[in-house]
This record gives sequence, C-alpha cells and structure tokens, in this order.
Amino acid sequence: MSVSSPAGVDTDTQGPARELWPADLVYDGLGRPRRDAAVLVQVRPEPARVVTIGHLDALRAQYPAVPVRPSRRVIAPAPVNAHTHLDLSRMPLTPGGYVDFVAAVIAHGRAGGRGLAAAEQGLAELAAAGVATVGDIVTDERVLARLLAHPGLRGVAHWEVLGADPDEADAAFAAVVDVVRRFRPLERPGGVRLGLSPHTPHTVSAPLLRKLAAFARAEGLPLQIHVAEDPGELPLHRSGDGPLREAWGPFLAKFRPSGRTPVGYLDELGVLAARPTLVHAVHVVDDDIRRLQRAGCAVVHCPRSNALLGSGTFPWAAYARHGVSVALGTDSRGSSPSLSPVDEWRAAVAIHGVAADPAQLLWAAVKGGHRALGTQPPRVVRGSRADALMSWPEGAPWPSGGAPAPAAAEALASAEAGSVDDVRGGSG
Ligand SMILES: [Zn+2]
Repeated sequence: MSVSSPAGVDTDTQGPARELWPADLVYDGLGRPRRDAAVLVQVRPEPARVVTIGHLDALRAQYPAVPVRPSRRVIAPAPVNAHTHLDLSRMPLTPGGYVDFVAAVIAHGRAGGRGLAAAEQGLAELAAAGVATVGDIVTDERVLARLLAHPGLRGVAHWEVLGADPDEADAAFAAVVDVVRRFRPLERPGGVRLGLSPHTPHTVSAPLLRKLAAFARAEGLPLQIHVAEDPGELPLHRSGDGPLREAWGPFLAKFRPSGRTPVGYLDELGVLAARPTLVHAVHVVDDDIRRLQRAGCAVVHCPRSNALLGSGTFPWAAYARHGVSVALGTDSRGSSPSLSPVDEWRAAVAIHGVAADPAQLLWAAVKGGHRALGTQPPRVVRGSRADALMSWPEGAPWPSGGAPAPAAAEALASAEAGSVDDVRGGSG
C-alpha cells in the first residue's frame, strides 16, 4: 500500500489517492456496526483498499484534506439471504393468508412453474443483488446438482422433506437417505453444503421428524424448518383444531396435537438438539425463545413475507433480549417482491420501527446469516479490498419491485464514479 503525506493526501495529476466514505452505519463484519462512521479508502493504485474504519468526525480531524464522498445509509459486506426458494422465482407475488398461499404454491408447481429454469432466474437475481451466500429450500434434483456445483455460491441447499403420514415415515426417510448418498459427493470445499428441510412440524410426521433429526446429527447435515409462521399453527398443535385443521383436514388426518407450542413440540421430539435454523418463528412464547437459545438454534426472519401473508409481527425485541442469533431471509418470490436482503433489511427497519435497532438488523443481515448457514463471515480490515464492502441504498420505498441491481462490487470499484455508488443507482 502506498503511503500518503501526513495530511493524508497524495497530490498528483490524478487527484487524491484517498477518500473518506461516510455512512449512517458502517460494518466491517467484526463486532457491531458503527454509527456515523466512515471508511478511509486508498482508491489508487487500483484495486481500492481499506486503510481504516472509524468515527467520521475523528477521521475528518485526522485527515483534513481527504475528500469526503456523499454519505450513504449503510456500508457493509454483502448480506446473506438465509432463506429462500429459488425454484419459486417465477411465481407471481401472491398476497393473502397462509392457507391460500400454500394452495397457490401447489398450483404453481402443478402448472410447471417450478424447476431449474426458475431457479436460474433466482440465481441471477441474487447475483445482481450482490448476494453470494444463500440458504435455499430445494425440491428438484436438477436444482440440487446446480447449487452444489455452483462456482460462486456458498451456503446450504436444504432438500425439502414432506410427509404427514406417520405410517409412511420409513419410506420417506429412505428416500431422503438416498438423495443424501447420491448428492453429498457433489459438495465442494467452500461451496454450497447439502442440508435438509423438514417442511414444518405439521406437514412432517413425528416419527419422520425424529429420524431426520437423528440422521442430520449423525451426518453433520444442516437443518432448516418453517415453524410458527401462521397463527393457526398454535391451535393445531395445542388442541388439534383451528383454521389449518379446517383447511387441510384430510392431509392432517393423522396429526395428533402435542398440547405444546410448535417450538416446544420440536424440542420434545429432540429436533432442536440437531440445531436447526427455524424460519419465521413469529408465534412463539418466551419459553420457546429460551428453548431456542439453550439449543443454540438460529432464527431466520422474513419480514416482507410475514407482512404480505398476514403472518404477524416477529418478536424482534424478545429474541434480542434472550440473545438468539437472528438472520434475514426473503422467502420465495411468491411472498417477497425481491430476493435482495438489502430490501429485506430496509423493510425490517420500517416494520419494526423503534422496536428494533437498525444496527442490530444490519448485523442480522450479514453476520447473522453466516452464523445461521455455518459460512465464514467476512472481515474487512486494513488492506482489504474495498469491493468487499457494498453500499446499501435508500432506493425506492418498499416494496421496491424495481429492476435488479448491478453488482455491488462493480459499482464500488468504479474509479471513474469516484464514490461508493448506489447498488441500484444505475451508474453501473
Ligand atoms: Zn419458506
């Protein structure tokens, strides 16, 4: 790295070699995001590199001659989409309740809307949003092969398991073992890992849940489960009735209520001991959150999907109080206007208001996502390439529904632009 004058400026014909990039929140992947901070960047010689990160006022005082670029909302490493269904990327946005939504997903699949082409569309959208780490739910072997072999992607491809009939648990489990045996050899170091997703505690029978949890523990397979997304799950598990029983009577014919909450039921079955990541987890009581904390389970919060499906409000403050690690996910395009975790973060800030600290939500979008998926979180330190950071734009108010954003790294590395460009700002 070149050394500048004490004033912090190299004056040559090309202009200043250093710049200050300020933002309301700056996160380096270590500790907590900082408020009113800035990144001192050595922009030449290329590639631009981080010199230091600190409070804006302190850095201004220390480097008075370094030009300060326009302030951004957030400068942080690329966020993680910890929960999506890439093969639903061609599903139209379908507002409404949970029961109707599940029916729409089934109809979309029967009409041929799922599969590899849809997943490719989702992958392109993730790449355009600067996302390289994903937790996906997979229902198609071609998609599974594609994700496990993807050269630029990290995270977990969770093979989805459904099976509400306890009498068919052995056959369903054997089919899962077969998939794992065939696809696990495709895992590559540093790439996407194979995991399992028992769909929900009411669409997978108790014996199958037990088998899957034990298998996942023995094999070191990550698990991801939808739970407590809809308010109707509580009466179903507690007393066996309510709107889900009414809507899905034949499908749930052999479901027996445990009398517990959905999370308490998973704990009782031994599923939490396999440390699944739990998606949604909206309708929980304090005891559920304590169980999750004790088991070391991370939770994936999908605020836009919850809003669109009327699922309820995620009890952010309660999770924060109990120290449960929270990640952000978009869920599928069927219930989310985009696959961008930046959009999800912005929506979370708006939805939770004063109940959630934007800095904590930022931590969730980056570090929380890596924790949930078991991937190595980024650490931006002195000498790191500046394109390890991206600007999280204000953009259009949610729901954005706008054009896919250009790659963040590309925007950041643009020396001609001379600043941290908006990810979706269009300066390319
Ligand atoms: Zn989902």
